Amino acid sequence: MTATVFTPLRSEWLALRDRVHTADLVRTGRGAGGSTPGPVLVAGVAGGLRDELRSGDLVVATEIWSDEGPDGSRVACPSAPILAGELRRSGLRVASGPVVTVDGVVHDPVRRRRLAATGALAVDNESALLVSADGSPAVIRAIVDTPSRPLLRPGTPARGVAALASLRRAAPVVDAWAAATGERQVLLAGPRSFCAGVERAIEIVERALERFGPPIYVRRQIVHNRHVVDDLERRGAVFVDEADDVPRGSTLVLAAHGVAPDVRSTAARRELQVIDATCPLVAKVHQEVHRFTRRGSTVLLIGHHDHEEVVGTRGEAPEQVIVVADPDEAARVAVSDPEGLAYVMQTTLAVEEAAETVSVLRDRFPGIRGPRNDDICYATTNRQGAVRRVAGEADLVLVLGSQNSSNSQRLAEVSEAEGTPARLVDDASDVELAWLAGVRTIGITAGASAPPLLVDELVAALGGLGPTLVRPVGDPVEDVSFALPKEVATA
Ligand code: SF4
Repeated sequence: MTATVFTPLRSEWLALRDRVHTADLVRTGRGAGGSTPGPVLVAGVAGGLRDELRSGDLVVATEIWSDEGPDGSRVACPSAPILAGELRRSGLRVASGPVVTVDGVVHDPVRRRRLAATGALAVDNESALLVSADGSPAVIRAIVDTPSRPLLRPGTPARGVAALASLRRAAPVVDAWAAATGERQVLLAGPRSFCAGVERAIEIVERALERFGPPIYVRRQIVHNRHVVDDLERRGAVFVDEADDVPRGSTLVLAAHGVAPDVRSTAARRELQVIDATCPLVAKVHQEVHRFTRRGSTVLLIGHHDHEEVVGTRGEAPEQVIVVADPDEAARVAVSDPEGLAYVMQTTLAVEEAAETVSVLRDRFPGIRGPRNDDICYATTNRQGAVRRVAGEADLVLVLGSQNSSNSQRLAEVSEAEGTPARLVDDASDVELAWLAGVRTIGITAGASAPPLLVDELVAALGGLGPTLVRPVGDPVEDVSFALPKEVATA
């Protein structure tokens, strides 16, 4: 299935001609399109409808509207987030939103304002005529004129040159888009996305905002995900590094990863109302540290040295807890009381590597005691098992999650260990088109802190690159929930 790139004007065609090799590049005028098989991308110039747009900016259409009225047809462009992300990484200024196609050039400022009021970002004369809803359409338009610099003004030729220069700079991305199109299968790992501890932590902040009103202060990221943090920030949460940064007497939520006791002391000194969103499964590890250190044991904490959960857990007894990151460190760690030794774990480790680390410790210290049940939580274990299953069938695995999310990082590592390349992405806009060229089966999972909506958006964006069969693998249901703390529990 060959992709087609339509360029209505000759100047647009010339801007792409030397640099687009993977697609059929067709100069159309206004009329062709519609019945072309395979994915279609329309590339050309347009008028900007918003003051924030500048000549030479690119608009990637999320939808194509056929006229300015409420009854006009709308064609979705699902691959817009991937295309816009790739163009931004190329250093271009890009906006994403609806593009409206009208008959003739719109000089009348009143009509322009009416078009802008519909929510469209740009206006052109061809896109809606060149695409059909079933053809995985995409549209890139380079802005010539804007509301403050309309067409019938000096400087329009220079603005046209700027727009065509941007289109030319976009050509390698257009080529990469064409190479990434095609039929494919998407395997959805189950379970994936939010765990019970993350859902509880987010609900605690939401309820605190409702009950006490903004601002609600949160120490560090409530969970390690940029989208979750941005969303709560918009709703009135204020994220701070330390309890010291919170105004005296305010409400402070402690994040899901847990804290060392000195954080609670600081909060008490500042007379803060503390609501603890520490995941109960992390709190359990803190209790284990107490249990072992009370008996005078040294505790080896298997985990990543700088991870917030590990810093918090170690803070329970810093003189008696030694962090051991991996089997190598387990082989080297020196202890003064090998007879009274114990170990605990970070909850989000790679299951197999952690087992290897424990095995090294048991070989070296046969009397070492451990937790009654494994500290790696159910959500980490289940998600790693699920990604292993999809990795076995996929050419590429996409893991939704932020770079600082330990459990998301581990999912990518599990896939790589199965021999399937994996990429950790915050959302669809992080997906690079080059990763998708020739890839026919993509596995998708999401870390325990990544919202489920991001999975839906990624699946839709991939579907915009060609016909896609979506197949769930595994069981997405997990029957775990945790009670809310009394400060925000329903009365
Ligand atoms: S990943 Fe596990 S330990 Fe972490 S918040 Fe979720 S359930 Fe709790």
